[in-house]
Amino acid sequence: MGSILCEHCTAACCRYLAIPLDKPAGARDYDDMRWYLMHEKVLVFVEDGDWFIQFHTACKNLGADNLCGVYETRPEICREYEAKDCDYTGGNYGYDHFFTHPKQIEEFYTERTGKKLGAPKPPTRRPRRKGAGKAAPQKV
Ligand code: SF4
Ligand code: SF4
Repeated sequence: MGSILCEHCTAACCRYLAIPLDKPAGARDYDDMRWYLMHEKVLVFVEDGDWFIQFHTACKNLGADNLCGVYETRPEICREYEAKDCDYTGGNYGYDHFFTHPKQIEEFYTERTGKKLGAPKPPTRRPRRKGAGKAAPQKV
């Protein structure tokens, strides 16, 4: 923050955090993303080929006045952030992909592999001999 533009904003950049994800390598990774997206206020996006998970949750240091309560000691990541590139000022946020719902990641996976995520698995049954498991007859 610190730009004159920020004075007209409700601190959009302090109301979420985005963490890099490993690029998905297989069904399990996509299925994990499906699970992330089953949670409220979570989204996944791809930017310049890099995958991220984003949580919409405000920083605890953000005051009711939309100003940083720890401005002098704010983390490096906050210092590096520039208003000229932020969402509010219309910087280049050309996402490669943007997922907000588990259905979207299911469709994305199916388009690429022809397979489905989340298909119910058939119960695994071991072959059993007839009568196996029954109590042996007792001698009287
Ligand atoms: S950097 Fe952008 S999003 Fe953050 S407070 Fe300033 S104008 Fe708002
Ligand atoms: S520490 Fe301050 S600048 Fe950084 S996200 Fe929190 S409120 Fe915003």
